[in-house]
Amino acid sequence: RAKADGGGIFRNFEPAFEQEQLRIRRTEQELLRALERGELTVLYQPQVDVETERIVGFEALVRWDHPTRGRLLPGVFVPIAERSRLITRIDAFVLRRACADAKLLTGVTLSVNLSPINLRAAGIADDILATLRETGFDPNRLELEITESALIDPGAAMPLNRLRESGIRLALDDFGTGHASLVHVRRYPITKIKVDRSFIMNLGIQRDAASIVEYVVRLGRSLGVTVTAEGVETREQLRFLRAFGAHHAQGYLFSPPLPLEAAVKLLECQRSGGAGSESDTGPAA
Ligand code: C2E
Ligand code: MG
Ligand code: MG
Ligand code: MG
Repeated sequence: RAKADGGGIFRNFEPAFEQEQLRIRRTEQELLRALERGELTVLYQPQVDVETERIVGFEALVRWDHPTRGRLLPGVFVPIAERSRLITRIDAFVLRRACADAKLLTGVTLSVNLSPINLRAAGIADDILATLRETGFDPNRLELEITESALIDPGAAMPLNRLRESGIRLALDDFGTGHASLVHVRRYPITKIKVDRSFIMNLGIQRDAASIVEYVVRLGRSLGVTVTAEGVETREQLRFLRAFGAHHAQGYLFSPPLPLEAAVKLLECQRSGGAGSESDTGPAA
């Protein structure tokens, strides 16, 4: 009987699997069109100095304004793009757009994410440096964020050294979640570690989290790299980070990712003595 029904318990499983494959393939096709039709946009999230709370940089974060599904987060489409190599075009687009946009974000660093897939591509350093030349963006103002998984590949050393020698800074993103360790920080020309949000989230809740963050900050400092905390949402978390000596922080406590115009305004507001400013000495009018 079950056979006559067409496959017993697998009856429901197979269509679900096929539907998922179909959805992935459709997303790939749509993503290709999205690149051509300009449906991708870039938002900018401030990174602040832990002591002064002043903006020291912005991280570029990609969004997809899908015609029917609305605004999609990278978690929905970046993994699919990484499977199909579309990630090369996405990251190239984000870098070019961010370098052009960041001319309005003067005096601060621009951080751009780079997929481990792209770090493996031949000529990646040349491509990045060519984009900087073409957009007239100063390599010393650019920081590339790479994840620990990118460093497992020994082939990463060459492009990373080349990029660093050109003045670009290198941040190790989501630190603590992958297989890399502080050993990698010494082996590669890493200039910053970004302590993953999962540790920051538990500061003041789990005793272990405080110990881990304190340890990472101390080791990072002793290795001479900048330590940034990701996903800071509360004053209490910020107090922990101050006590431990973390350098920078990023998170909703300060600001969500913003459209360029709002990011520019925030920076201008800070300069004219608004929130987060140390120098309130200027004339009030
Ligand atoms: P990430 O590089 O670790 O970026 C930080 C993520 O945390 C962002 O998510 C940001 O919106 C979110 N976030 C920031 N502050 C807070 C907070 O206080 N609380 C919470 N809950 N979340 C916070 P988003 O924009 O969804 O990006 C997710 C990931 O997608 C990024 O993680 C990055 O790995 C990847 N990604 C984003 N843009 C690009 C890109 O242009 N290229 C590549 N290859 N990957 C990208
Ligand atoms: Mg990042
Ligand atoms: Mg991160
Ligand atoms: Mg993260």
